[in-house]
Amino acid sequence: MEVEERRTYQAVIGLEFHVHLATETKMFCGCRVVYGDEPNTHTCPVCLGHPGTLPVVNEKAIEQGVMAGRALNCDVAERAVFARKNYFYPDLPKGYQISQFDEPICTGGYLDVPVGDETVRVGITRLHLEEDAAKNVHVGESGRMHGSVGSLVDFNRGGTPLMEIVTEPDIPSPEAARATANYLKEIMRAIGVSEADMEKGQLRCDANVSIRNPDGSFGVKTELKNMNSFRFVERGLARELERQREILENGGKIQQTTLHYDPETDEVHELRSKEFAHDYRYFPEPDLLPLELSEAWVRDIEGRMPELPDELRARFVEQYGLSPYDASVLTADRELAVYYEAVAAEADPKQAANWISGDLRSLLNESGTEISGAEISPEHMVELIGLVQGGAISRSAARDVLGRVFESGDSPSAVVEREGLASVGGDELSGVVEEVISANPDEAERVKAGDKKIVGFLIGQVMKATRGNADGGRAREILLQKLDA
Ligand code: ADP
Ligand code: ZN
Ligand code: MG
Repeated sequence: MEVEERRTYQAVIGLEFHVHLATETKMFCGCRVVYGDEPNTHTCPVCLGHPGTLPVVNEKAIEQGVMAGRALNCDVAERAVFARKNYFYPDLPKGYQISQFDEPICTGGYLDVPVGDETVRVGITRLHLEEDAAKNVHVGESGRMHGSVGSLVDFNRGGTPLMEIVTEPDIPSPEAARATANYLKEIMRAIGVSEADMEKGQLRCDANVSIRNPDGSFGVKTELKNMNSFRFVERGLARELERQREILENGGKIQQTTLHYDPETDEVHELRSKEFAHDYRYFPEPDLLPLELSEAWVRDIEGRMPELPDELRARFVEQYGLSPYDASVLTADRELAVYYEAVAAEADPKQAANWISGDLRSLLNESGTEISGAEISPEHMVELIGLVQGGAISRSAARDVLGRVFESGDSPSAVVEREGLASVGGDELSGVVEEVISANPDEAERVKAGDKKIVGFLIGQVMKATRGNADGGRAREILLQKLDA
C-alpha cells in the first residue's frame, strides 16, 4: 500500500516595526517634532543636512529607546554606536541616514503575546534608534509619484526620532502577527514613548513571511512593506501565504522579493526589485561618539517605567477581584483603566467594572469618543452605582440615566429627578403588585399552587406597570409573600 506523503504548510513570520518617538525635539537637532504644521516650518541647518553642521544626540530619545527595550525584556548594550546608512533620495538631504547597525542599543528580548486563549513568545532580535527621512509630497491628482506633475519635500519630518524593532521569525500565523503588532502598540503607549497610532503613521510595520520546508528548516521569505493598519497586516499575510502555498503546491520555488499588499484588491504586487536592492555601505558615524549606557542610568530609567499592560491586568485581577477578561478589557485603554480606578476607589469594584466595560464602553464606541473627552466624570459613575445599589433606581432605569448623563454631563440624580426615573419602591411597589395579582387571578392561583414558572410573567407585569422603574428582585419577594408561595 502506498502512503501518500502530505506536507504541511507552516507559516513563519518575523516583523520589523518603525515607531515614532514622542520626544519634543528631533533626534540630532533642537527642531520641534510637530505633525501637520505648514511644510518646512520646523527645520534647521542640521536636519537640512547643510555642510559643516554637527549632530547632537537627543538624550530623551535614548531614554525612550532604553525604556522600550526594557519593556520588551531586552539587554541594554553598555556601548552603542551610530552608523551612516548611505543612499540617495530627495528625502535624505545628507545622502545618508544616521542609524545603528552592528551595535544597537538593545538586543535579545522577548514579548509574551496574548493570541486568543494562548500566549505566543516572540523573540525581539534588536531595537535601535535612527532619524526619519523627510516626507515626499507628489503633486498631482493621484497623490503618488506615478502620474504626478512634480514632487515637493517637507522636511518637518526629516530628522525626527524613530525606533526600529525587529522580531525573531517566531510568529506562527497572520492572526498572531496582528496580535503582536497590537500588543507592541499597547506597550509603547503604556510606557509613553509613542502614541503608536498606525493610522497616523506613528507605527509602521514590514512583515517577513515564509513557509517552513518539509525538513523543518526555514523557507525562502518575502517581505510585505509598509503596512499601516493591523487589519491589513493580518489580511496581507494571509493572502501572501496563500500565494506561496499555491506556488509550492505546483512544484514552484519562492523568489525572495519585496511586496506591497493592496487592501482594495486583496492582492500582493511585487515592488521593482531594484528599488530595494541597496548596498547601504554602513560605516560608523564619525561625528558622534559611541553611546555609553551605564548600568546606573538604565536602572534609573527602569525605575521610572510605568506599569506594563500585563502587570496592570494582573493587579486589576488581584486588587479588584475582576475576571481576567474584564481586567483585559479595562486595561486595553490606559485612560479607561485610570477612569476605572477612580471609580473603583469610591464604589463597588465589580459593579464599576460591569458598568464601565459594558454600557459606558458601548456609548464611547458608538459616539467615537475617548474617555478623556467624555462628559461623564468618575464622580458621576460613582453616584450612578450608588443609586442602583441603594434601590433608588432600577437597573434598566440606570441604563437610561447613564445615556443621558453621557450626553448632557448632568449629574445622575439631577437626571433621575428631571426624567421621573426614581424607582417605585416600598408601599407604592406593594400596591402595584396587588393590582397585578387581581388583574391576573388565574396566574396568581397557579403560583399559589406551586407553579414557579409563571412568576416571571407576573413580575413582567409589575415592570410594565412601573415602566421598568422597579427592582425586580424586590417585586418578586413581595409577590411571593403576598401569594404565600
Ligand atoms: P534580511 O537580511 O532580509 O533583512 P533578517 O535576517 O535581517 O533578513 O531578518 C529580517 C526580518 O525577517 C526579521 O524580522 C526576521 O525575523 C525575519 N525573517 C528572517 N528569516 C525569515 C524567514 N525564513 N521567514 C520569515 N521571516 C523571516
Ligand atoms: Zn533641525
Ligand atoms: Mg535585516
